[in-house]
Amino acid sequence: MHSKKATHQHTKEHNRNLVLKNIFEHEVISRAELSRITGLTRTTVSEIVAEILEEGLALEVGIGESAGGKSPILLSLAKDSRHIIGLDIAQDHFRGALVNLRGEIKKMVSTPVAERFGAKPLTQIFEVLDQLVEASDQPLVGIGVGTPGLVNTAEGMVINAVNFDWKDYPLAHILRERYELPVFIYNDSQAAAMGEYLYGKYNLKGDNLIVINAGYGIGSGLIINGRLFQGDGGGAGEIGHVVVLPQGGAQCRCGHHGCLETVSSTQAILRQVRENPALSRRFAEPITLDEIVEAYQQGDEDIREMVFNAAYYMGRAVAALVGTLDIHQIVFVGEMTRFGEPWLEVIRQTMREFSLSRLAQSTEVEIGKLGSNATLLGAVAMLVSNYSLLFGHRFRSK
Ligand SMILES: [Zn+2]
Repeated sequence: MHSKKATHQHTKEHNRNLVLKNIFEHEVISRAELSRITGLTRTTVSEIVAEILEEGLALEVGIGESAGGKSPILLSLAKDSRHIIGLDIAQDHFRGALVNLRGEIKKMVSTPVAERFGAKPLTQIFEVLDQLVEASDQPLVGIGVGTPGLVNTAEGMVINAVNFDWKDYPLAHILRERYELPVFIYNDSQAAAMGEYLYGKYNLKGDNLIVINAGYGIGSGLIINGRLFQGDGGGAGEIGHVVVLPQGGAQCRCGHHGCLETVSSTQAILRQVRENPALSRRFAEPITLDEIVEAYQQGDEDIREMVFNAAYYMGRAVAALVGTLDIHQIVFVGEMTRFGEPWLEVIRQTMREFSLSRLAQSTEVEIGKLGSNATLLGAVAMLVSNYSLLFGHRFRSK
């Protein structure tokens, strides 16, 4: 049972976070507006604002227009008052960034993955994070990590990531021990969804968004009512391993045959080129995605057919999502987006062909706005939107 004191503390924290949330959501805002929007009394707002100013999280930036009485003092988020570290554990790179409260990247460190197994990836992750911690000249809120595979965010565990042979791997705990900071880990596609939602500035009809991450692997992140929906086991949005070619599909790294990932990902495109001598001889070894994208842009018919086939199956997957969720904004991120508008148009057409027209008509399918930074910015966004984490770092003057 809650004691009276604990309940009071809880209410206070809730109100404080509510005020801070509104400071985040506005360019500038006065105490009177905060009171009106939050429904808190002016006295309560003034007390909370005093605390926020003392924490250095907001600044008084000028005088607003008077609505009759005294001209109000305007408050603005002190966007550089805290730094957050975002880390994207991608297929071939570890990319980390030092980010401010508005999602602006202050410093980026990237290193190609040297070895995938054993302790080596962790050593490289430490090298990236060490540099970012060293570079920060503001209090650090924490570390947000996006990783491929199935993740249990609450326990900070990577349940299964085939790329690195991680099984029930306590990644958050390991990083927390070393850096003595809050650490949160998310599936890379789920993080990308949160990044696009918070920083992509979409004109959403509802507070819902689907982000499909189509790169070496395929996954998606679902934002429902402004929150990441992770499902009962953390695996919501794992569309990459839905079987789309039950007969004769290639073997997937998950063990099944014909998963969406075996047709519509960059690894699928690369594999199909490498396995086809007539195609592979058009490229210099080792064949890279760069070369394939270039051939596609120059109109290589066989490559275009392969990419459009990938888009066709992706479009069917999108139709299934549209039919299930009726979410009107769908955004693609990941390396497959390098195939651009013609690839996207095949996805749109297929989606329409396999959906109720009433649902398909109101659905927008676009390419994401954050480019390759979606995952790491999303991992950061999760920490920033946990307003409680931002308090208690009172300014150490330099
Ligand atoms: Zn699979």
